[in-house]
Parts: sequence; structure tokens; C-alpha cells
Amino acid sequence: MGRVWNFSAGPAALPQAVLEQAQRELLDWNGSGASVMEQSHRGKRFIAMAEQAEADLRDLLGVPDDYAVLFLQGGATQHFAQIPMNLAGPDERADYIVSGHWSEKAASEAAPYLHVNLAASSKAEGHLRLPPRGQWRLDPGAAYVHYTPNETIHGVEFHDVPEVGEVPLVADLSSNILSGPLDVRRFGLVYAGAQKNIGPSGLVLMIVRRDLLDRPGRPMARIFRYAEHAAAGSMLNTPNTWGWYLAGLTFQWLKRQGGLAAVGERNRTKAARLYGVIDDSDGFYRNPVDPPSRSRMNVPFTLHDGALEAAFLAESEAAGLLALKGHKALGGMRASLYNAVPLEAVEALVDFMGDFKRRHG
Ligand SMILES: *Cc1c(COP(=O)(O)O)cnc(C)c1O
Repeated sequence: MGRVWNFSAGPAALPQAVLEQAQRELLDWNGSGASVMEQSHRGKRFIAMAEQAEADLRDLLGVPDDYAVLFLQGGATQHFAQIPMNLAGPDERADYIVSGHWSEKAASEAAPYLHVNLAASSKAEGHLRLPPRGQWRLDPGAAYVHYTPNETIHGVEFHDVPEVGEVPLVADLSSNILSGPLDVRRFGLVYAGAQKNIGPSGLVLMIVRRDLLDRPGRPMARIFRYAEHAAAGSMLNTPNTWGWYLAGLTFQWLKRQGGLAAVGERNRTKAARLYGVIDDSDGFYRNPVDPPSRSRMNVPFTLHDGALEAAFLAESEAAGLLALKGHKALGGMRASLYNAVPLEAVEALVDFMGDFKRRHG
């Protein structure tokens, strides 16, 4: 079996060019005679690579100088807890916008550390649309506002950045970072587990406005404190060297793709192609999300007859289309269309879906 079209929600497809480069460099990285995984993160070669990765990311996203870029560990989930520890004291409050599975989890993991104000939630409507901005009950005294711009499981996405006034906006970008341009200045802190749109799991990318690093938070070990990580160049302890290296290769690949405006355009085209086929299938396929709230990255869909799901999954896999099974919380199917999934893969998927409908409709 060769490479298949991979629609995995995460860990997800990586650009083939990145994997091929990593393969070429695996045994002898950068003339060192050893792999990048086998050498000190404090060595000249690694430091140069790490600095280049940060410079390329800053270039791609236009990260201003008053923001620090951190390469951390622990997955996005660890930072659900660590963000409140760093940005607020135990007696402070933070606003959480709940628009799906992950933002709900972020709020529940923050609850031991501060007072969580559920400022808005779409839970009662099954997260089929974003909580309308007019109904958010924001607390002007909150330490920050947290939201999840793309809900990986429910397939809902904010298509612009909400206006929240002076309170720093914190965003979990795990499943849509680098999927298009982003105005970093609108945020106090953004973070993302790498395994959807950047690289392998085990790496977390964070971009944080430097003044927020001065917040006292609460007493905690240095290893939890973002200011310490920033001061140490994300090398307070041994970083995820392999993840950092692959992220760097991905940043270079994105630049070769024409940067984030071009990448964002391609992502819009890919999503429109798939939603179009679902919506034009006379109900054979269905995506229940309110169209303005639909995600470009994660497209959940069901078949008109649930009894066909097993056949859909088996036949799609046999056709070289991997990981279309939906999350267990929702059932059905899900196609994730991250940056590394080319338009060609989406074309192969919609061809298969048309063919499956002809045979089973
Ligand atoms: C996958 C995902 C997470 C969880 O990431 P881990 O790295 O497994 O902790 C959090 N938030 C979003 C939006 C995700 O898609």
C-alpha cells in the first residue's frame, strides 16, 4: 500500500514534501552525521534551526515584536489548565465562550484555578451554530476571554475575531492555526497543539503578548510559568526537538505555498467543494451546521441512512481515503481538510461520495 489521502482529525496528515525532507535528513541532519533527534538542543545547529523556525513563523503570521513565540509541550489540554494559572490569581474571573467540545473542556479544566464565567454557550442547540455575539455576557473585570475559533469535533468555526474590548482575548487555535491569515494583535495569547496543522503531537505553539507574561498568576513551579519559558527561549528544559524541527519544515513549506493568504484561499476552495457536494446530494449526505458557522477545517457529515455508514467507511478506505469515521461523540463521518490535505484529495473524496450515492441512493 502506498500513501493514501488522509482526512484524519489529528494527529493529521503532514505535507508529503515535509516528510520526504525529514526522511532525506533523518540519518545525517545538516552535515552533523546524526539525526536531529540525537543531538543537544543547546548545540549550534539546533539553536540555528530553532531560531529559523521562529523567524519563519513570525514572517508567516506577521507576529509583532511585543509578542513572544513559545515552543512548549503538554498538548493543548495541559494549557487549558496552565493558562489560567499564568494569567490570573485564584480570586480572579475569566470569561469562557463554549461553542463545542473543546471550549467546554477548556472551561472545565480552568475551573480549579479561578472563577469561570460561562459568558456564552451553544450547548443547548447542540453546537450547530456559534453563540450569537449579541448574547455574550462578558465581564469587564475578567482576566481574559477564552474561546475556540475552530471546534474540531462539532465542525463550527468563527470566521472573524470577536470584539471583546480591553480584556485580553485567548484562543485555542489547535485545529485552525496557519489555515489562513491571522491578525495576531487582536489577541493576548493564542496556542495550538501541533498535531493538526503544524507537525507531530507533543509540541504546543504559543504566541503571547509580552506584558501578559508579567502577571503574577499564583505561586507555581518555574516549569509551569510561561515567563520562564520565554526568558529561556523555550529551553527551560529539553524541548520536543523533533517536533520543533518538523514544525520548522512545515513553516518553510507554507512559505513555498505562497504564504497564508494563498493557503487560506486554497482552504476555502477545498471546503466549498465538499460542502457543495453534501448540500447538493438531495439529503443523501447531510451536514447539520448552520452554514455561516461551518468550519473550513473539519467537516462532519451523516448519511441519510445510518445503516450505510459501515459500508461507506469500508469502501472509502478501500478506495484509499483514510480516517473518515466521525468522532465517537457525534457518530457519522468527518473529513478534516487541514493545510496538508491537497485539493486533489478533496476531489478524490467527492468523486467517491458521488459514486457511493449512485450505488446506494
Ligand atoms: C485536538 C484539540 C485539542 C486537544 O489537544 P491535545 O494536544 O490532545 O491536548 C484541544 N483543542 C482543540 C481545538 C483541538 O482540536
